[in-house]
Amino acid sequence: MKSQEPLDSSVKEMLDVAKTSNVSTVWDRYQSQLPQCGFGESGICCRNCLQGPCRISPFGDGPDVGVCGASADTIVARNLIRGIAGGAASHSGHGKHLAHVLKKVAKGEALAYGVKEAAKLNAVAARLGIPTENRSTKEIAGDVAQAALDEFSERETPNAWAATTLTAGRVAKLNELKVMPYGIDSIIAEIMHRTTLGVDADPVNLLLGGIKGAIADFAGCHLGTDLADILFGIPAPSVSEANMGVIKEKAVNIALHGHNPLLSDMIVATSREPEILAEAKAAGAEQGIQLMGICCTGNEVLMRHGVPTVTTAVSQELPILTGAIDAMIVDYQCVYPSLPTVAACFGTPLITTMDIAKIPGATHIEFDEDHASEKAREIIRIAITAFKRRCNKPVHIPPKTSKVVAGFSTETIVGALAKLNADDPLQPLVDNIVNGNIQGVVLFAGCSNIKVGHDQNFVAIAKELIARNILVLATGCGAGAFARNGLLDPQATLDYAGDGLKAVLTAIGEANGLNGPLPPILHMGSCVDNSRPVDIAVALANKLKVDIPQLPVVASAPEYKTEKALAIGTWAATLGLPTHLGLVPPVVGSKLVTRILTQDIKELTGGYFIVEPDPILAAEKIFNAIQERRQNLNIST
Ligand code: SF4
Repeated sequence: MKSQEPLDSSVKEMLDVAKTSNVSTVWDRYQSQLPQCGFGESGICCRNCLQGPCRISPFGDGPDVGVCGASADTIVARNLIRGIAGGAASHSGHGKHLAHVLKKVAKGEALAYGVKEAAKLNAVAARLGIPTENRSTKEIAGDVAQAALDEFSERETPNAWAATTLTAGRVAKLNELKVMPYGIDSIIAEIMHRTTLGVDADPVNLLLGGIKGAIADFAGCHLGTDLADILFGIPAPSVSEANMGVIKEKAVNIALHGHNPLLSDMIVATSREPEILAEAKAAGAEQGIQLMGICCTGNEVLMRHGVPTVTTAVSQELPILTGAIDAMIVDYQCVYPSLPTVAACFGTPLITTMDIAKIPGATHIEFDEDHASEKAREIIRIAITAFKRRCNKPVHIPPKTSKVVAGFSTETIVGALAKLNADDPLQPLVDNIVNGNIQGVVLFAGCSNIKVGHDQNFVAIAKELIARNILVLATGCGAGAFARNGLLDPQATLDYAGDGLKAVLTAIGEANGLNGPLPPILHMGSCVDNSRPVDIAVALANKLKVDIPQLPVVASAPEYKTEKALAIGTWAATLGLPTHLGLVPPVVGSKLVTRILTQDIKELTGGYFIVEPDPILAAEKIFNAIQERRQNLNIST
């Protein structure tokens, strides 16, 4: 598949710069991989033991089993659920990292951190059955942190972050299917065990094991969001900007990339200290220190601090090509190993910070929560020194920026709705879904993939749906795509929304003193934060006394690429959502697995996968899935 043209003019402009500078980017490397392996793309290549690699002929003119006798169905199912395990390990590893820091806070260590959101700490504690009355914040924090750490090893009770956050109906369904996880790390290990040579060969049993891993991923995501909110605060809407134009020629430009807010939050705080600002000014940075985000670390600092977004995962190399980035600081996940090579061409320090995520050619400054402020200061000073080196050298900064309103946590959305009905905040949402002003809700999630024209699918599908009065929520690089393409600007509601949606978003905006509508797409955070829209769906289902599979709610990952997205998509379908995928997943080598995921699973969970690469057809199918649910609920269309 040939990569299509990016949508964003800044990305196109920087790709021209890459060409004239003779710098290889992900676009070039993708072309040099073509044609990619059809066996791999179909999921029918196995190297789970050293008798392989084995591959199955998709055309029936070669071997139909591997050396050990594994069929295409077995191989595809095994490969898929190993991917889900990888995704669950990543999300939950991020959550576990936060739990360790919260535990240190409770013990009086890691002094740069604290409990910023005591009300959320108490709410999470209450949900987990941890006593809060007459106890100090530190005592409660210690118990919540320990409860989070207890989620990982094998346990006798279901994972609390799954069992206490879903509808009773979903919990019963997960128990009925025997896919409720009992320990996140334990399930990940179980998947690795059952997929090794000579263990589980039953594709249905394997897929159920994968679903259990996906629910473990959901627990890890929810835990990560809860603990981040407790440590760093619940996001609230703020106005910011997105795209390459946020880079300032005469500022110390620092890009924050990866996923975990632990270091980036500290860099935001340190960059605002008068002493460090004075150092930047003394170095000649008359525009001060300009932070900017990439990928989900970018979403974390945008949601909580209004730090602008410069770009998203696929185009992560391009800001460096401006020649104006004075340090790119990365933590983990979705960070391309190519970055130090690109950075070396422009004298940009590329700083890795996590002991599990080093890259040859980068400068490694090990992050240490006990000395978080000092580490942040050390890193910013490296950027100031780099700024001095680049002074008066030519830069090429595309000027484009888009206005962004972001920071729509669950609590913020409920709070905004409460301005319309303080006694029953969800009632206005229900009323407008029932009367058809809002036809349904679509959550756009997932990453960006070089195989898709950058941002093309996200933007085309969302515009179609907004025009049809669908309320759109977004997380991760999807939210970043909307940010850079002007769809997180309230003006976009006036430009693109259907009349019903426009009226609702305007009423909420006016009631909240915004003198206009909310943006047509509500940015709910990073990929881990996909638990936030689930919380809203659960609250809606409980209010309506139905279960999630009955709600007119759909998930879409139009440009996904990571194992994390496989895990999220699988739990979305398991929780009962029609789940659109904009790329064909590596399962088509098995007719059985393909049929289970697109059809049979609907009988089991109520959710299912819609695979549609064409954005206009995808919008049609998503809309039709919403209409089917509206009809089943007997509400107007
Ligand atoms: Fe081949 Fe079976 Fe080994 Fe896979 S597990 S590489 S199919 S022999």
